[in-house]
Amino acid sequence: MEMQTAEGDIGILIQIVKQDFEIQKNRRVLEEAPVRIKEINKKVKEMDEEYEESQTVLKKLEKEKIRLEENVKYHNSKVAEKQSEQSRVKTNKEYKALTAEIAYLLKQIDQEEERIITILDQMEAKRKEVGAITSQIDSERGALLDEKRKLEEEIKVGTERLRVLEDEKVRILSRLSNLVLHLYNRILKVKRDSGVANLIGDICQGCYTRIPPQKAHEIRKNSKIITCEGCGRILVYYQVDAGST
Ligand SMILES: [Zn+2]
Repeated sequence: MEMQTAEGDIGILIQIVKQDFEIQKNRRVLEEAPVRIKEINKKVKEMDEEYEESQTVLKKLEKEKIRLEENVKYHNSKVAEKQSEQSRVKTNKEYKALTAEIAYLLKQIDQEEERIITILDQMEAKRKEVGAITSQIDSERGALLDEKRKLEEEIKVGTERLRVLEDEKVRILSRLSNLVLHLYNRILKVKRDSGVANLIGDICQGCYTRIPPQKAHEIRKNSKIITCEGCGRILVYYQVDAGST
């Protein structure tokens, strides 16, 4: 579509496409930051849970060890008791019975001591695990929380910046002629990011379609409203500063 229009409209459209670009950049930050925050929350929670879980297992093992040590102590005292009883018995039958009881107690003590050794091994392994988690927490947790605070600040600043950009855009749009404003709004409604696109080389920056050289030449004059056949956006031409598109 081509029509004669004041070069003034094109100048305003160039401001608008730059404004739309800034608006889009801000919107992306506002979309991405909450996703990353959610990720950080999940990671921190996982770390804390892993630490808690290891501590719980460690405490449980410690408790079992104490219980077993008490059992060993109790069974040893029982053995001593039975042995002194044995020195006082009169019959062979009583003596034999006590020997059996002592043997049974000693076997129990053996089993309990074996279990204590296993627990000590398990506790050592768990302590190493807790140590690894603790150093991970020390090195990563703080950095993650710092990143989260930064992102929250970005959201705050970005929200305010977006509001300002949108306000400015309303003011810029109001300077367009009615016909071009109507066209812009119609394209924006479909394309969502902008109703205007810059031409770099012969390429529309809205849809990356190559524009025929003669048409590109016309566009670079910035004197007519010309739309892209690929995406429908109004094509304008301006020099891009280094570092932006
Ligand atoms: Zn296009």
